[in-house]
Amino acid sequence: VTALADLLVAIVGPDHVLDDADVTASYARDWTGRFVGEALLVVRPGSTAEVAGVLRACTDAGVPVVPQGGNTGLVGGSVPRRQPMVVLSTSRLTARGDVDAGAAQVTLGAGVTMADWRRHAQAGGFDAPVDFASRDSATVGGAVATNAGGSRVVRFGTMRAQVAGLTAVLADGSSIGSLAGLPKETVGVHWPSLLAGSEGTLGVITAVRLKLVPWYRHTATAMVATGSLADAVAVLAALRSNVANLDAVELILPEAMAVVAAHLGATPPVGDERTGAYVVVELADHEDPTDALMAALADLPQIHDAAVTTEGPARERLVAFRDRITESISAQGVPLKLDVAVPVGALDELMAAVRAALAAHGGRVVPFGHLAEGNVHVNILDPGDPDLLARDILGAASALGGTISAEHGGGLAKSKYLHLVRTPAELAAAAALRHALDPTGTLNPGVLTAT
Ligand SMILES: Cc1cc2nc3c(=O)[nH]c(=O)nc-3n(C[C@H](O)[C@H](O)[C@H](O)COP(=O)(O)OP(=O)(O)OC[C@H]3O[C@@H](n4cnc5c(N)ncnc54)[C@H](O)[C@@H]3O)c2cc1C
Repeated sequence: VTALADLLVAIVGPDHVLDDADVTASYARDWTGRFVGEALLVVRPGSTAEVAGVLRACTDAGVPVVPQGGNTGLVGGSVPRRQPMVVLSTSRLTARGDVDAGAAQVTLGAGVTMADWRRHAQAGGFDAPVDFASRDSATVGGAVATNAGGSRVVRFGTMRAQVAGLTAVLADGSSIGSLAGLPKETVGVHWPSLLAGSEGTLGVITAVRLKLVPWYRHTATAMVATGSLADAVAVLAALRSNVANLDAVELILPEAMAVVAAHLGATPPVGDERTGAYVVVELADHEDPTDALMAALADLPQIHDAAVTTEGPARERLVAFRDRITESISAQGVPLKLDVAVPVGALDELMAAVRAALAAHGGRVVPFGHLAEGNVHVNILDPGDPDLLARDILGAASALGGTISAEHGGGLAKSKYLHLVRTPAELAAAAALRHALDPTGTLNPGVLTAT
C-alpha cells in the first residue's frame, strides 16, 4: 500500500491521495446505501496526464480501480467492493471550454456536473439536451459511462446521442479519442460509441465534447390523471401524433404518488380514487406552448383530471412530485431497484408480472418512470426475497421484448442477469473486447461481468 500511495502522491500531489477511512467512507458507499465497500485509497487526478499516471501505477501494482463521478449510480458500479481497490474520482476534472455556437457544442471535463453543463450551455445561449433529478451531483463523464437518459429522451435521445467526441485513458495509461467534434467521420471504431454505456470497464473518460440544443425559454407542464396505465399509453400516442415540441412524458403510478406526496407533505395536484396512472407532460418552445398543451389534452377521453402550469414556483411544485420520488423512496428504506423497459404496448403486462412477483415473494412496489420509453423504475421497499423478485421481474421484462436496464446500467446489481438480454456470442465478444483493452482486469472488475 505504501509504495503505491507514494507513487500516486508523486503523480497527483499529497492533497489528492486520501487514505483516512473517515474521509474515504463516503466514496465507498453508493447513493442507495445498498452497496457499501472499502477504498484502499481515493485518488483525485487533475488532468488526463494524471489519470494516465494513476492507471499505469495501479495496473503495474495489480490493484483494481473503480472510476467514480458523482457517485449517484444506482447499481453499485461506482464504489469499491473487493479488497484492495482504488477509487479514481473525477471531481477535479472540471475544465469548461467556451460554448462553440457555430458547432453547437461544448468541451467539458468529465467531472463537470449535469447541472453545470446546463448552466454553462444557457450562459452561451443554448441548452443541454439531457436532464435528470441527480443533476447537481451526477457528472457528464458518469452520464456518458452509463448512457444516462432522463426526462428529455423523448425529444433528444440518451447521452450516447449527445457525444460528439471524448478522450479516455485505458488501463495501461494510453489515451484514445478526440475532442474535435466532427459531425462526420468514418475511419473505423468510433470511440464515443464504444465508451458510452461501458460503465468504467473499458477506460476512464477524461473529457467530453457534447452537443447543445436550442434553449427553449418557455416550458408548459401538465400533470394528468388517467384511469389506467393503458389509458396513459393512449395519451402518449395522442401527444406523439399531435404535438411537435414534446419535451417530456413521465409516468407516476399511484403507489409512487402516495409515497412522494407523503414525503412532500402535499396533496397530489390531480387525481382521485379512479386514478390508475399519472402522466407529467412538458412542451418546450421559443413561444409559450401553454395553449398548445391545453389543446392537445382537451379532448382526450382517457384524462379525468388535469393541472397545467408554466414557469415559476407553481411548475416547481408540480415537477417536485416527479423529481423527488427517488429521494422519498430512500427516506423509507433501502429499496431493491429494478430499472426495466418494455415496448410501451407491453407496459400493462409488465406491471401485472411485477404485481404477481410481489404477491409471491413479498415487498411494496413504488413504480414510476419515463413513459415514452416504456421505462419503469420498479422500486421495491421491504423486498421479501430480492433474488426471486429480481429473477421474476427482470425475466418478465426480457420475455416481453424489453431490457433489464433502461438506464443506470448493469453495474454489480444486474451482472448475473445479463444472459437474459445478451446471447452467449454477444457476451463472449464483449468479454474479448474488454480483455483486449484491459488484459490485467484493472478497470471495474465485477461490473458488467456475466456470472
Ligand atoms: C435521484 C436520482 C435520479 C436519477 N435519475 C436518473 C435518470 O432519470 N436517468 C438516468 O439515466 N439515471 C438516473 N440516475 C442515475 C445516475 O444519476 C446516472 O446514472 C448518472 O449518469 C451517474 O453519473 P455519476 O457521475 O454519478 O456516475 P457514478 O455514479 O460515479 O458512476 C456510474 C458508473 O459510471 C462509471 N464512471 C463514472 N465516471 C466515469 C468516467 N469519467 N469514466 C468512465 N467511467 C465512469 C462508474 O465507474 C460507474 O460504473 C438517477 C440517480 C439518482 C440518485
